[in-house]
Amino acid sequence: MQIASFLAYLLAAALFIIGIRRLRKPETARSGNTIAAVGMTVALIATLFVIEFESLLLIGAAVLLGSVVGAVTAQRVQMTAMPQMVAAYNGVGGGAAALIALSEFYHLSEEGTLGVVAGTTIPLTVLVGSVSFMGSVVAFSKLQELAFTGSVTFPLQQVVNAVLFLGILVLAANAFLDGAILPFIPPVASVLAVLFASLVLGVLLVIPIGGADMPIVISLLNAFTGLAAAASGFVLGNYILIIAGTIVGASGTILTRLMSGALGRPLGKIIFAGIAASGGSKEELEERPVNDVSASAVGEFLSDEANKVIIVPGYGLAVAQAQSVMKDLVEVLEKGGTEVLFGIHPVAGRMPGHMNVLMTEVGISYEKLLDLEDVNPEFEDADAAIIVGANDVVNPAANDPEKDTPISGMPILEVGNAKRVIFIKRSLSPGFAGVDNPLFYDTDNTMMLFSDAKQGLEEVVEAVKNG
Ligand code: NDP
Repeated sequence: MQIASFLAYLLAAALFIIGIRRLRKPETARSGNTIAAVGMTVALIATLFVIEFESLLLIGAAVLLGSVVGAVTAQRVQMTAMPQMVAAYNGVGGGAAALIALSEFYHLSEEGTLGVVAGTTIPLTVLVGSVSFMGSVVAFSKLQELAFTGSVTFPLQQVVNAVLFLGILVLAANAFLDGAILPFIPPVASVLAVLFASLVLGVLLVIPIGGADMPIVISLLNAFTGLAAAASGFVLGNYILIIAGTIVGASGTILTRLMSGALGRPLGKIIFAGIAASGGSKEELEERPVNDVSASAVGEFLSDEANKVIIVPGYGLAVAQAQSVMKDLVEVLEKGGTEVLFGIHPVAGRMPGHMNVLMTEVGISYEKLLDLEDVNPEFEDADAAIIVGANDVVNPAANDPEKDTPISGMPILEVGNAKRVIFIKRSLSPGFAGVDNPLFYDTDNTMMLFSDAKQGLEEVVEAVKNG
């Protein structure tokens, strides 16, 4: 049985790796996801064969409950709320790893068989798992705008965090050394204290992070959960946990680095600085004139003067579910001989790859979807940049050295270089990071079409057809 389950774990690990490899390209991503899910099923079934018979009922019930909750929530979640769901699932993973480690510590110290491996990995798992759990709870609350919106800071925050971290290390060492450092705290109580202190640390680490940095934090917490799972694999002597946890930890770390690079924010600044302005505190909008236009004016401009158009989709396009009518616009423009490209910012929308998913859902070809670096030189000879439900990703305030905003330093899509900038959004409201966009007020070059994205695009399509 041991050999069979070992081979099954090996198969599961291979399926995870093949699955992740296939996630690299949109064409193969769907099958990659299915392959990784098959791997997880194999691992689950193999685990059922290695556990004690009396635990089967309890574990079966937990698997059933978890599967039902997972399936129902994944079916129901709006794509725009995906980061919250990822944060929630991620937190549960970290919390589970911490609790497993805690109970293992209890058993091993009761039996007196706590070795060096368990003695060091258990406090580490409890620390990382708890930080990941509580950090994810805070991230969820921020994204859902339930609590901690914006950047929550207090004096000497970094000092408090450092002291707390040192305290956790001392408690962990005390647990490992059988109470030799703090004789009045028994080992199991020390691990419990590590758990509570790490939960507090998880809150303190994430509350100052606001606005545009949330995607990076979620990805980082995801990497933490992977690390916690891998460490709990050492505790339990379970290979598949070690392998799967390492894959999650490594891929989460790579994604975190890629995203912090794309946003122009060193990780240290995100975690240790705390940004003053925030996603919650929207700036006061200035009363300035804007060039408020109708859909027919946009349609007329596009049919008469636009030979090359670059469309920039953002969060509002997803909210309005306007991807299908966006495709209609592409078709009608191309029919009239206009070249159409898309500029896709790495953090447009509310999850990595959000815009790519929407565009490919309606069959817009991958070749038209250009990344930030590839599309920016194209704006110079574009007749129009049409920005649909986006703000932060095209906001030149990000590169204004005079301003310190949550998006400062983030590379943007340079739509201002196009001959005409056309915004389709409902109002002058800023986006997720709460930063007003100076392009709105450029009455010479910018056209503001105030409308829901879907309705506005439908009217523009009609106008282009009639124009
Ligand atoms: P923004 O959040 O900057 O702007 C979205 C705009 O959409 C708003 O200005 C809003 O204006 C408009 N809007 C909302 N609903 C509609 C609608 N029905 N019709 C038309 N417009 C609408 O979006 P971006 O995509 O530009 O930027 C994404 C932001 O989200 C970045 O700050 C990023 O860091 C952050 N983020 C990204 C994540 C990711 O992984 N991609 C995850 C979490 C956060 P109005 O109300 O006037 O219509």
